[in-house]
Amino acid sequence: MSCSQSSEAMIYNDVYRLTFDLSALVDWLTTHGVIGDFAGACPRCGSGELTKKKDSSYGRDGLVWRCRVKTCGQKVSIREGSWFSGSHLTLAQVMKHLYYWVYKTLSHVIQRELRIGSKHTLVDWNMFCREICMTVIEADSSQIGGPGTTVEIDESKFGKRKYNRGKRVEGVWVLGGIERESRQVFLTTLTDRSADTLLPAIEKHVAKGTTIITDCWKAYSKLGQLGYKRLTVNHSEHFKDPETGAHTNTIESTWRAVKNCGLPSSGTQKALYDSYFVEYIFRRKYLSGAHDKYLAFLDTVKRVYKPNLQRVEERVRKPLAEL
Ligand SMILES: [Zn+2]
Repeated sequence: MSCSQSSEAMIYNDVYRLTFDLSALVDWLTTHGVIGDFAGACPRCGSGELTKKKDSSYGRDGLVWRCRVKTCGQKVSIREGSWFSGSHLTLAQVMKHLYYWVYKTLSHVIQRELRIGSKHTLVDWNMFCREICMTVIEADSSQIGGPGTTVEIDESKFGKRKYNRGKRVEGVWVLGGIERESRQVFLTTLTDRSADTLLPAIEKHVAKGTTIITDCWKAYSKLGQLGYKRLTVNHSEHFKDPETGAHTNTIESTWRAVKNCGLPSSGTQKALYDSYFVEYIFRRKYLSGAHDKYLAFLDTVKRVYKPNLQRVEERVRKPLAEL
């Protein structure tokens, strides 16, 4: 079911009302596919049926899926396999945070309004939102460029990620490119930024015959042999390379736009800048034209996290074999 159906875009009051009653909120999230509907066969005993029950002893939500067979009694979190899995925040807090994030509320205001004690928790959730941005842009990236076009590419480190399993890993390398003429973009994650990793990624995402503008990173030096024209820019020295005329107007102007969007002016690490860049591209591509930005973002959350019982099935497989 698509989220984007109501006639008026949701305002904060709607989100507040939605989060006021937990069981109504859970129903709404289930209907919209953001959390799973696990009513059906128990993944452990197979013969019982999972039903939603009140249970204040399990997790933060006071609701849990439980097998009706008393000798089994398997419990499954209502957050299982969803974007909410593994978080200490309440569902209401996450849903409100999402609203604030979509409408670009300042972090200290969000922290105060949601009574989030730890600044780190808020930083994490902002990053989880950007992770959704990154994943969706990557999934939708097609080949750009071609003869007569110019593509600017840059590789950078993206901050820590939540991943589907709820565990966090250190930053990943991201390769991104913008075609000047069409302003189409691609993004892709890399295991490292060696030539062996970078060059195949470029060949996949940039058509042969394109003029590619890169910085002076040596891994790019073989681009000429692969059917591209390469111009380099040393970001630290020149805005415009005096010999080749190569310049970085597109990325520079995009960055100016990013910097005008509430980015702290100093003390921010490069990884954070880069994730802001991903966020900027995402907002331009997926949110700017949306009738309801909040629901549009939830639609992308659903694309990345499809709630399922796979992990529970893996966990209970062993006891089942022993029965
Ligand atoms: Zn069962």
